[in-house]
Amino acid sequence: MNNLTHGLTLGILGGGQLGRMSAMAAARLGISVIIFCPEENTPASHVASETIVAPYDDKDALKIFSEKTDVISYEFENIPVETIEYIETLKKNSVFPDKALLNVSQDRIKEKTFINTSGIETTRWKAVSDINDIQDTLKEWQTNTFILKTTRDGYDGKGQGKFDTQDIDNISAFLNETQEHTLIMEELVDFTCELSIIIARNTSGETAIYGPMLNEHKNRILHTTTVPAGVTQDVEDKAIQIANTIATSVNLVGVLTVELFICPNDRILVNEIAPRTHNSGHWSIDACAVSQFENHVRSVCGLPVGSSERHSDARMLNLIGDDINNIDQHMGTPHTCVHLYGKKEARTGRKMGHINFIKPISKS
Ligand code: AMP
Repeated sequence: MNNLTHGLTLGILGGGQLGRMSAMAAARLGISVIIFCPEENTPASHVASETIVAPYDDKDALKIFSEKTDVISYEFENIPVETIEYIETLKKNSVFPDKALLNVSQDRIKEKTFINTSGIETTRWKAVSDINDIQDTLKEWQTNTFILKTTRDGYDGKGQGKFDTQDIDNISAFLNETQEHTLIMEELVDFTCELSIIIARNTSGETAIYGPMLNEHKNRILHTTTVPAGVTQDVEDKAIQIANTIATSVNLVGVLTVELFICPNDRILVNEIAPRTHNSGHWSIDACAVSQFENHVRSVCGLPVGSSERHSDARMLNLIGDDINNIDQHMGTPHTCVHLYGKKEARTGRKMGHINFIKPISKS
């Protein structure tokens, strides 16, 4: 037997739900997946053919992982870059997306610098170290409200706070609490909506685009994603152009997500980028012939990129914490697709699953 995927084994660093859904997509193509992560019993390991449980700096375990796999990817952006550098000393060009992109996306200052250097607009920002820097920046910007974020390890709104010039005590408390030498200060954007766009690109430069998607947050965590996003054609075209520009400039192999703020007069600012599949693309499992997860697998494995054409409109609802207790009502409902991640404990703010509500597009 001979086909493009025969005998292929994909390694994924990270054991979360994104790895789980990529592993399920890989299985559909006959590709085996080995997960590497420090935790036992993870959402991804439940569906993979094997899991290597070891810290990300365990060189012996990484060597075994590298020997057992043909190609390696990652499912979240806080995998240490040193881990990938080490794997690449064993096997050159075996990890996708490239570590340079991972490095940039791990640090908000590097990320914003990279985006701006690519000619793409972000909100105004400044690297700050203390209250004096913050006050100087406020004078320069002639503004009263702003956001402070840690440069690393922030996700789902963690490590950030919204402040006002009057909030001196809260600002000092935030600076003390984060214990970081440098933070990023951002102008508060008065956006009309938040969008994201996902691009998959393979080694031959073939691409597939998902979105733009409309994203609504609750307590700074993604709550719902809707496609189509209901924005103008001009915004849609510009969003796609931004994703293409970034993907081409880094010679992307894999999946890249771009989060956008849409401002009055259709001005578009990039908020952040992630070199991985994204929560705002989960609807694609049930509304596209080839999902973001399958195209993640296809693009890093050197396969043709599949069509991201949407056969249905969709709304994705995240199941956070206790939301998982209310899913029974959705189990028998037409065009309602329930996805659960197999997590045992429903902690506050924890993503437990999602539901895709789809509406087939009539072609008549
Ligand atoms: P982030 O961790 O940067 O993705 O931020 C999480 C959420 O906080 C975003 O999806 C926005 O809703 C909000 N946010 C972040 N940065 C800004 C900003 N500069 N202005 C307004 N809202 C922001």
